[in-house]
Amino acid sequence: MVLLPEPGEDAGVVERLARKIVDAIGAPMILHGQELEVTPSLGVAVFPDDGAHADTLMKNADTALYRAKALGRNAYRMFSSDMAKVADRRLSIEAAMRQALKRNEFRLHYQPQVDLDSGAVTGMEALLRWTDPLLGVMSPADFIPVAEESGLILQIGEWVLRTATREAVDIQQRSGHDLRLAVNLSARQFRQNDLVEIVADALTRSGLPAAQLELEITEGALMADTDETQVRLKALQALGVSIAIDDFGVGFSSLSYVTRFDIDTLKIDRSFIAALPGSASDAAVARTVIALGQALDITVVAEGVENDAQLDFLRGHRCDLAQGARFGMPVEPASFSVQGFHFAAALSPDDFIARLPELAAIRA
Ligand code: C2E
Ligand code: MG
Ligand code: MG
Repeated sequence: MVLLPEPGEDAGVVERLARKIVDAIGAPMILHGQELEVTPSLGVAVFPDDGAHADTLMKNADTALYRAKALGRNAYRMFSSDMAKVADRRLSIEAAMRQALKRNEFRLHYQPQVDLDSGAVTGMEALLRWTDPLLGVMSPADFIPVAEESGLILQIGEWVLRTATREAVDIQQRSGHDLRLAVNLSARQFRQNDLVEIVADALTRSGLPAAQLELEITEGALMADTDETQVRLKALQALGVSIAIDDFGVGFSSLSYVTRFDIDTLKIDRSFIAALPGSASDAAVARTVIALGQALDITVVAEGVENDAQLDFLRGHRCDLAQGARFGMPVEPASFSVQGFHFAAALSPDDFIARLPELAAIRA
């Protein structure tokens, strides 16, 4: 902790000092011949604007520190009342999530995954749903990051694994179809020591065959390309579970991990699907991921497919599976339908060109 008594009227003094401290601590140093780098973060609260008492000042400096860390280290942040609002909201979400766990208020909805060859529903993705009595309908995009930071994601994630496997067996029995179940794992869950045991136990208790479970992780979870990542993936796959990379293309998409880790499925992020087939660059990305999947024998799933134009493009390029509003948004387990889809026979651009002489002959 640094105390700066009487910083004076010039607000710049505090900021310049903060910058100096961050730069000084962040400068590379040599220790036993090794270059080391520390990445400091600093939060600043100023008396009396940011608090009239020591504990308020400390709490607000802490909030600013937290913000500095979130913005990528090697930085300082001055406290602001907006930060306090964000911090307050985080705390209320966290408290409400603890209650929701206790009161069993989380739900799972299931979104169909459709085989683009046959039109059959072959799988489903479990997605968390939560309506808090006070906060209202909460989107996973808002509460998952808070769960991740607070560590609550470990409990929530375990609940998701156990509930999804159990409900998937119900859906299978009701429909008579052996659907594959996809479950999202957060980065923190993926690093959890007893993850493999939890997955194995959820499978045993539910009776879902391991081959029908797919775990979706994001590129971020694989980024720390450590031996541990490799060991963890291998252990999960040894259970018979498959591994998908979710939101592929928006993270640090590195081809090396796709090959090094024996990935089973790539899910093309929705942002590349939205503007298909009009956007030339998105079309190029989608085609490339599909070709990569074909070359490496990896299943490719398109996310967020909403209309026929996108569907035709994906079928034309032989994408394996798709999910999205075109087929059905996530629904509660009791409403999940395995009714397949009929596709109009679409010619791929390549097939179309190959068949041009034939088509011309028909016209003549
Ligand atoms: P995700 O795993 O990539 O899930 C796909 C998201 O796209 C879902 O949003 C789904 O409702 C939405 N979606 C599906 N089809 C369409 C479409 O045609 N158009 C549009 N605009 N959206 C579509 P959702 O359910 O809000 O989940 C958001 C994210 O939250 C998920 O992205 C996933 O990263 C995370 N999440 C959800 N459930 C869980 C969970 O149980 N555990 C963890 N760790 N993360 C979860
Ligand atoms: Mg997902
Ligand atoms: Mg996704």
